[in-house]
This record gives sequence, structure tokens and C-alpha cells, in this order.
Amino acid sequence: MLDVLRRIVQEVNGARSLDAALATMVRRIRKAMHTDVCSIYLFDAAQDRLVLMNTIGLRSQAVGHVSLRLGEGLVGLVGQREEPLNLEDAPSHPGFRYFEETGEERFSSFLGVPVIHQRRTLGVLVVQQQEKRRYDEGDEAFLVTMAAQLAGVLAHALATGTLNRPTRTPGMATFTGVAASPGMVIGEARVIAPPADLDSVPDLVPTDIEYEIRRLGEAIERVRGEIRAAGARLSSRIPSQELALFDVYEQMLADAALGQEVEKRIREGQWAPGALADVVRRHAQYLERVDDDYLRERAADVRDLGRRVLAHLQQEASDGPGEYPEQCILVGDELSVTMLGEVPRERLAGLVSLKGSSTSHVAILARAMGIPTVLGMVDLPLPRLNGAPVILDGHRGRLFVRPEEDLVGHYRKLIDEERALAEVLEHEQHLPSVTPDGHAMPLMVNTGLAVDAVASLKPRIAGVGLYRTEVPFMITERFPGEQEQSRLYRDQLEGFAPLPVVMRTLDIGGDKDLPYFPIHEANPFLGWRGIRVTLDHPEVLMVQLRAMLRASVGLDNLRIMLPMITNVDEVDTALRLLERAHKELSEEGLSIRRPEVGVMIEVPATLYQLSALAERVDFFSVGSNDLTQYLLAVDRNNPRVAELYDACHPAVLSALAQLAAESRRLAMPATVCGELAGDPCGALLLTGMGFVGLSMNAPSLPRVRAAIRRVSLSDAQALVDETLGLPTARAVRAHLVERFAQWQLTHLLPPRDEQER
Ligand code: PEP
Ligand code: MG
Repeated sequence: MLDVLRRIVQEVNGARSLDAALATMVRRIRKAMHTDVCSIYLFDAAQDRLVLMNTIGLRSQAVGHVSLRLGEGLVGLVGQREEPLNLEDAPSHPGFRYFEETGEERFSSFLGVPVIHQRRTLGVLVVQQQEKRRYDEGDEAFLVTMAAQLAGVLAHALATGTLNRPTRTPGMATFTGVAASPGMVIGEARVIAPPADLDSVPDLVPTDIEYEIRRLGEAIERVRGEIRAAGARLSSRIPSQELALFDVYEQMLADAALGQEVEKRIREGQWAPGALADVVRRHAQYLERVDDDYLRERAADVRDLGRRVLAHLQQEASDGPGEYPEQCILVGDELSVTMLGEVPRERLAGLVSLKGSSTSHVAILARAMGIPTVLGMVDLPLPRLNGAPVILDGHRGRLFVRPEEDLVGHYRKLIDEERALAEVLEHEQHLPSVTPDGHAMPLMVNTGLAVDAVASLKPRIAGVGLYRTEVPFMITERFPGEQEQSRLYRDQLEGFAPLPVVMRTLDIGGDKDLPYFPIHEANPFLGWRGIRVTLDHPEVLMVQLRAMLRASVGLDNLRIMLPMITNVDEVDTALRLLERAHKELSEEGLSIRRPEVGVMIEVPATLYQLSALAERVDFFSVGSNDLTQYLLAVDRNNPRVAELYDACHPAVLSALAQLAAESRRLAMPATVCGELAGDPCGALLLTGMGFVGLSMNAPSLPRVRAAIRRVSLSDAQALVDETLGLPTARAVRAHLVERFAQWQLTHLLPPRDEQER
């Protein structure tokens, strides 16, 4: 059964349109369940009704015409109750409703299950049988599993359908994701695919078919040349049997085979990369299904050849000049830091990605660069988005594709208002971060993920609260050497001197991978991360510690911070290594002041070991991003659970409040460097709790400073007391919004929809 299930999902997934997906679905399910009828009803929110969209077994004229309210008839009942309904004698059920056009009177038995995606009912899947049949437990379980599996596929196909089908507002489609970096922008979508990935090539209609065919031919020729050369290189080293494979490959690429099919697809209206991807996928899928090991293996060969040809096509495309529009909204399945680097900074206006969430590192980078970003747009149809005019709303997590004139006008106004506010706030950026009742709250910046404008920042901040050293490691092709690191660190330390700079030792793992040191794990955030990696590789940590110490000679503004600390002995070991590094450099004749050392409080275990930690280090810095993820058991990167991730969850706030109080008792300075510190509401709560400094992305400084300068410490403390008594994150957020409104500070919060106010 599992095999049948998987195949059906695969086929539906491969369908080229919503209609094709639905038709495949009902046909295959009817066959698998040996039943007379299978139908799918989809919920149309505009009509508030479930509409029959496809059927095999009922009269086809009924499709698109028969519809029911939630609660109406058996199908409506399934939709309303959100649970299966299994009836041997359906017409005798009080909820039964007869539609003449379906010819339904002939069917006695009924089994309906809801299709639900992320708590939203998308539709109802129904099977029916002419003679009385008790669908057994196995049938019910099969249909429920089918519906759950198809829900995601369907949500995606539906979203694609919205773009392709004429709707009441032609062409306009709205998609929602996770708001990851604030700001709004009107621009043009540019879909970017990871190099040579056949599964993420967007569909595009070619403007010049002959040109597409020509470049396809050239790319194929180049790959044939490569294969011939590889064969010749290996001819003396591998057996002739294996060598014959190269001939087969070359043959596959010959005009008569693959090439001609791709050409045909181009003539049907698909650009060369899309046509190639379609044909290769179809061949590979066919081969994968065949019951023959040898042929199944060939599926991998076909894909490999396809990737090679695609690489040539993409290489040529990326050589083209002026390919990015002026207001470029970069859209991708999973945006990586390298992809951002491909667009000239002055053109990069916004980011959208299907994967990722608000504290993933692409999001942090986007915030540091001030680029509006929405991630986790799981239902976004990448094909056909390229070149579309869009509005990106990074506050509310929305993308409007082909927006109406009215909406564009509305957003122009909002963007102007936001610009005006930024100008107003700019006037007070040189003023101290002090509450009206005289409490100073030092503001610092997080650096490392972007080129930071040191000169303009320096007079406005109290130092660097977090320098993420991962970045220099990410952009090299091997671990950078001591001198190389030392130069970079010296730039940071010198640039901000005499202000303190907190340098964090390498924090890789989780979602931060080094290309030359990949870590593949089932649970990367619970695995080999941060200090766990560097203590296992003292040679890497020692080089880094020596580079930091060396860079600080004569400046004395270095502080060192250890990430992902879980156990006290990790601190002891790291301190021993630091001591050794210091001694080695002293022996080389360098006079270096021993830097202060701190730990990140981001693994919940440390909350219960504060006094043991305090005996060993000089400061605590709270990583609220990870502390939230670990306290709530919510992957900070997973859009499916993004709604559950909230640093204002009462449990997180209680933990933070206790941590601040305990740190004060231990006379340990405790600051916060996670994203919560850069949120004006979060910043006030942390001030009220008693933290002694906040470190954030530079673009967050103006709003946070404005909030601190307008709300007294006693009001911030009262705010903490009020929120700690609230039961849910939603209640906390609502309360914060209310208080900000009373203080007339609503303009400091991200703009929201009218109905949310
Ligand atoms: C944190 O976890 O809050 C933090 C500041 O570190 P990072 O986001 O780099 O994990
Ligand atoms: Mg962290």
C-alpha cells in the first residue's frame, strides 16, 4: 500500500497544472480503492463553498457547478467537522443532500475525508460505491493518509493555479510567509535557482525560440566534448566495459535522442533550461519506475547528463549583462548567502524564499543589510514568477504578485511615511540612550554579517556586542590562517577602538555550514554546533584564539565570547586553551592584556548553572534566538512551526527575567545580543528586567533608541510585571501593542493590517 501511496503522490506532484493534478488524484485513488467514484471538492473562500472540482464516476457536467456550504450535505459536513465520515447507506443519513446533476442517487456508500494543510481546510476527498459497501478501517486509513500527503502538494498546486487562472482581480495573487526583515518595496521578481539543479528551474516563455534551440545545441555539444575528453583521459585506467558507458552517454546526448525532445518542448513554448528539465525529469521518472535494476540505475545517468547541460546553459545566462532589474526582489527556493552576493547591492531591494524563517542566518544578514525579506513562503509557485511586478511587505510577511493600481498607490504612501519616520528618528541618533528618568541603557551592534559603516556607527553606540566570526570562515575555501584572521580581527578592533568588541569564537553547525567542512546531521541544531565543534578541533580554536589575541595588541578592547555552552567543563577547557594561547604569544614577546571572557546563555541548561559559570567568566550575553528555539523546542529555521516561535512567549520572558535577577545577585553583567534586543518592545522589556546592555543589527538602533528615550525605567519595569502574568505569546504581543499606543509610540512598531489593530 505504501508503494501505491508514494506513487500517487509522485504523479500528482509531477502534474503540470492544478487540473491535471486533480484528475490524476481522483483517477488513481479510485483505482487503488477499487471503488466506483472518486471526487475532489475544493474550498473556495470567496464563495465560502466547497466546489466539485474533479470526479471520476459522477457526471462530468457537475464539475464546477455543484457546490455546498460548510455543513451542507455530507461533503459539507466533512468540511465543517474536519473529520472523516464513513457511511454504508448514505441516502438514509439526515445530512444527505441530492444533486440531480451528479447522478448520485445510484450510490449507496460514502467515505469522505477532509484535506487539511496547516490547519486550513483545502477541500474534501470522497469515494462512493454503487452497492452497499462498508469501507473498512484499512480503506479509511488509506484515504486519510492520502489526503494528508496530498494536502501539501495541493496547496502548492492551488497557489500555482491562482497565478495561472484568471481570477476576479486578473493576475493579482497574494502569498504569505514569515516576516523576516522589515520594510516594504515595490519591484520586480527575479527567480534564482541554485546552479544546475534540475528541480528548481523556473518555467519561462522564451522570447526567441530559435535562439533557445541554438544555445541548447551549443550546451549539448560542450557536454559531449567533456564526456569524450573524460573517456579519453580514463581509457588507460578503467576496464573497457566501464568505458563503454561513456559511449552510451554520448549517444544519449546525440541529436536523435534527448536533444530532439528538448527542442520539441522549446517549440511548445518553454525556454531551454525549463525544456531540458522537463524532458530529463520525465525520462528519469520513467526509468525509476521500471522493474529492472540496470535501467533504474540509468535514471541517475540521465539526471547527471541533464545537470551538466543545464550548468552550461546557466553559465551562459549569468554572463549576460544587466540581468537584474533596478528594484530586484530576489526569489528562490532556498536563498543562500552566496546568492545574495550575485546581485549588485544597489539593485537588491528585497528577498523572498520558500525555506527559512525569521532567525535563520539569511534573515539575520538581510536585517543587518536593511533589506525587506519574507521567508518560509512554502506555497509560492516559483515558475512564472520571474519578471513579474511585485510588492514585498517585510512587516507583514506578504508578497503581492502583479498588484492592482490601488494597492501600488497604497504602498507608495506607506513607503513614503516610513522614509519620513526614518528621517525624523535620524535626528536623535547622536543622543544618549537614556530613559526619561535617567537610566542609561547602552546600545551596541552585532557585526560580521555585513559590511558595517563603522565611521557613522561609532559615535552612536557603546561597542560591538557580538562579532560573528563565522563570516570570514564562510567566504574562504579553507579555514583561514592565523595571520589572515588576525588582520580581519585587527580591522574590527581598530575600527571600533576604544569601544569594546565582543568576538565570538567560531559558531558553525546548525544552519551555518562551511563549504569545506560540511556537517550532515539529522538534527543539526541539537548536534555538533558552536563550542562543541571547536573543542573537538582544538587546532582550529587555538588558531582563532591566537589570532584574536594577536590582533588586540595595544588596543585592549577585545572581549571573547563562547557560543553554545552547555556544560561548565566546556568553559574550563576553552579557558585552558585561551591561557595557553596567551602564554605562547607572550613567549613570542607580545605583551597582551588578558581579555575578559564571557559565555552565551542560549542553551537552557545554563540557566540552572549561572553561579558555577559566574565563578569562571566575566560576563553573560543572552542569545535569545537560540534560547527561544531550545526552550520552546521550535526549530528557528522551520517555516511550518514559525508561528510557534516567539521570543515573547511567557516561558521565555520568565526565563529572561529570572536570568536578569540572578545575574544581578551574582554581580555578573548580563546583556542580550539576540534579535529580541532589536525589537522596540523586546528592548523595553529587557530594560525593565535589568539587563545592562542591548546588542542589535545596526538598522534596529533608531527605533530602539527612540523607545528607550521615551519610556521611563519604572514604566518598563511595570510593563515586565504586567506581561509576566499573561498566559500566551499572543496576549503578550497584544498587551505590548496596547501600551505602545498609550505611550503614543505605535509608529515605532511595524505597520499592521487594519483588522489586526
Ligand atoms: C542567538 O542565538 O541569539 C545569537 C545571537 O546567535 P546566533 O543567532 O548567531 O545563533
Ligand atoms: Mg546562537
